[in-house]
Amino acid sequence: MNWVIVPFKQEIDLTRPDECIVDVNECSVTVVDSSGNCWKIDTSKLRAIHEAYSRKLRRIQRIGDSKIKKVLYAKYSGRRKRRVHDLLHKLTKWLSEITKGKTLVMEDLRNIRKAINYKVKKFNKFSKRIQPVSLRNKNLKRRLNTWSFRKLQFLLDYKHKLNGFDVVYFNPHKTSSICSRCGGKIAPMEKTCPKCGLDRDINACLNMLKMWRGSGSAESLSVSVMKLGCQGLYADEVNPAELRGKSNFSTA
Ligand SMILES: [Zn+2]
Repeated sequence: MNWVIVPFKQEIDLTRPDECIVDVNECSVTVVDSSGNCWKIDTSKLRAIHEAYSRKLRRIQRIGDSKIKKVLYAKYSGRRKRRVHDLLHKLTKWLSEITKGKTLVMEDLRNIRKAINYKVKKFNKFSKRIQPVSLRNKNLKRRLNTWSFRKLQFLLDYKHKLNGFDVVYFNPHKTSSICSRCGGKIAPMEKTCPKCGLDRDINACLNMLKMWRGSGSAESLSVSVMKLGCQGLYADEVNPAELRGKSNFSTA
């Protein structure tokens, strides 16, 4: 069989506000805007904080004396909350600075908890009864349930709206499995496209932008993203104050 490939190109309407896609993943936040700028922020520190404090709190749970347990639990869970809060505030402040002037497009992740904690009726080999049993294991559930994606989205949402720009949500579906540049398939555990080497998260953003716009402008964008290069940062490196000095988005 012979194939005929007809490429289509779409001109971008500059009268409508530019979009900026923010893709929140467990260990990274990827930002791609419609001008071809791209940032990838490593947020694995957030997960490390959650992991370390979960371990600590589990040890505290085993203490016999309830009074000491209560005091220690409050101390360390409070400390975890404040550390996460601080990091997220700095990160979202920075994100709201770099996305200023654009419509923010984010994934609707509200039903993800339901998917994580999903149970099916199955034979439970320990109680020898048919019961609702979790599909996912305990460690994975704890890890994903402590993932603060909604908090990040919420903080970014209000900061962006405070700057006077719109935020929209849409349902992500199959945004990361097909490469936006070469059309190749990206398997769930692969970090880059096996054919052209496009980063999985950047690809997801480009596909989201394409879906959001309703037509294909992602190819030309992926080229400009490649040309500009992606700026990789760590979550604890971002400094909103420093950016404000250099920023060309300043309102003044
Ligand atoms: Zn590819």
